[in-house]
Amino acid sequence: MGRRNDFLREFNRRNRGSPESDQALKKIQECDPVVVGAGGGVGFRTTTTLCQCGAGSGNSTLYAQDFDVIEVLNLNRGYEYRDVGRPKVEVVAERCRAINPFCRIVPIMGNVMLPSSIKRLGDIIHLGRRKGNKVIFINNTDRKEAGWLLSDICGEHSIPLIHGGASPDSRGFFVQVFIPGRTACVRCVYEYFMENPEMVARKRRGCEKTALAITMNSLADKMMLAFYRLVANIGTTEPLMLYNIETENPKRIIIPPNEGCAVCGTKK
Ligand SMILES: [Zn+2]
Repeated sequence: MGRRNDFLREFNRRNRGSPESDQALKKIQECDPVVVGAGGGVGFRTTTTLCQCGAGSGNSTLYAQDFDVIEVLNLNRGYEYRDVGRPKVEVVAERCRAINPFCRIVPIMGNVMLPSSIKRLGDIIHLGRRKGNKVIFINNTDRKEAGWLLSDICGEHSIPLIHGGASPDSRGFFVQVFIPGRTACVRCVYEYFMENPEMVARKRRGCEKTALAITMNSLADKMMLAFYRLVANIGTTEPLMLYNIETENPKRIIIPPNEGCAVCGTKK
């Protein structure tokens, strides 16, 4: 116990700074981040960054969900060759505990679309609330249906969702923050994209795969900035930001909640 307390005091000392910063650390430690698709390139970096910022310590529990196993193809992410063949969430949890041996991280192996996974997410929300924690979902899956599902769950339980993804040609990516009652849900933003095709990166033959290690890390970092702004309550929480690898200037879009939507509409 002594070793644990000594470690955590020293570990958190590194995160301490101004009174605002100390307050932000406290808020992160009263938060249960649920990273869905934690084993992807974005998810790996998101989850380990959360751990580095103090999630999983204090009163916080960090959840990492993914169904997949590591392949050689995944080595453009945080994984190493010796990890090939192992479940991604197991390795992600191991890496977090290599950073903070006392990190309270719960790896969840399974497909998020399965009823058992949906039930588990509901249980996590109830457990977090019972502890008085703020539960925040972070979606790093690359399936749009998974994004819709998580957005529906967040709308139902009034919890925020940080959602992000890359364009099909990997030349751009977006970060969306869904705050029920304040911003549009993931389904409504998807519809907006479908109705405004010029917003989607132009069609190219193939995909900018060589940049993937860079774009995935950048996306994870932008999602973590959105997380920090939301939890620490600093700056403005941007509802939707579009990034392109050709320019440093993101495009900022405000899509208000759709009154007619069952998820983000305020008239329920
Ligand atoms: Zn909606």
